[in-house]
This record gives sequence, C-alpha cells and structure tokens, in this order.
Amino acid sequence: MLGRTHLAIGLAATATAVTNIHALPVSLAVAGVASLIPDLDERHSLIRRKIDTAGIPTGLILLLATDAGMYMYVYIRLLSALLFAGFFVFAYLSPHRSFTHSFLGLLVFLSAIYTSFPQYIVPASIGYAAHLLADVCTNSGIELLWPWRKRFGLHLGQTGGVLDVLAGSAAVVLLVLEIVKKMI
Ligand SMILES: [Zn+2]
Repeated sequence: MLGRTHLAIGLAATATAVTNIHALPVSLAVAGVASLIPDLDERHSLIRRKIDTAGIPTGLILLLATDAGMYMYVYIRLLSALLFAGFFVFAYLSPHRSFTHSFLGLLVFLSAIYTSFPQYIVPASIGYAAHLLADVCTNSGIELLWPWRKRFGLHLGQTGGVLDVLAGSAAVVLLVLEIVKKMI
C-alpha cells in the first residue's frame, strides 16, 4: 500500500488502542514513524523520499550516523544500536517486501525499540504490525516468513488502487472520530 495509507492506518489503530489522552500525541508520533519503517526497503517509498537525496541512498548513512550518535550520547543501549544498525542495513539491501515485511524484521525492530524505549513498545508495535497487515491484503503480498521467500497475500487489491483509497479514507475517518471521542 501507499505510504500515506500506512500512515493513516497506523495512526487510526493507535488512536483506537491508546486510552490515555495525555499519552496520545507521543504515541501517534511513534506509531506514525513505525508505520512507515517497513518501506525502508523501497527506494520510491514515502520514507525513503524523505531521507534519501536525489534517489541516492544517503538515508542509510543518516540513519546509521543517528544510531551511532544516540549510542555515543547514551540515549540508547549498545544492543539497541546494534539491532537498529543491522535492521537499517538489511532494510536497504534486501528486496522490497522481504526482510522488513517479515516476522523476523518486526522482531528485530521491536527488540531494538524495547531495549532502549520500553515505554514506546505499544505504539511502535501497532504502527509496524498494521503496515504488515495492510500489505498482506494486497495482490503482491509479503514475505512474512523471510528468509523463506514465499509471499503471503490476500489478493484484495493493488497498491495505489481502490483498496488504498478505501482503507486510507476509512482510517482517516476513524482517526478523527477517535480523537474527537477522547477529547470530549
Ligand atoms: Zn510495505
């Protein structure tokens, strides 16, 4: 699915799951980023277009430098830094919808988060898992059990097609309703 659809679904799912209104803004921010992370393996994805320069994979250098910097200044633990580094390198090198769209990728990313930011594990899990669930619905499917290269998909529609429009629109409506409901 498209990046904006993943973002809308991840935010809507998080707004539904998080009951504490005070925790909602940070939770939405974490889930929003996590919902885009799996598509680090696609050079034309929303997240890669934000961090790469002119189609050159400079985003990987940026991510690894940020990772190293956060470790140096003790914002994250060594295990987190290593897991993030491994995840980012694999994400950039592996084919689209393989490692980052698998249970193994999910486990590595969430372990990196949990080791240093256990308070963000719920929104990070929701954002990332919602991405995988949404992509499973598409015709091309995902390699859920990577390194086994079999693709799993429900063939409900094509990326960028009607499925994206319907899922994205429904998610935006749900997101707005959930936020309004929590504010009143
Ligand atoms: Zn994806």
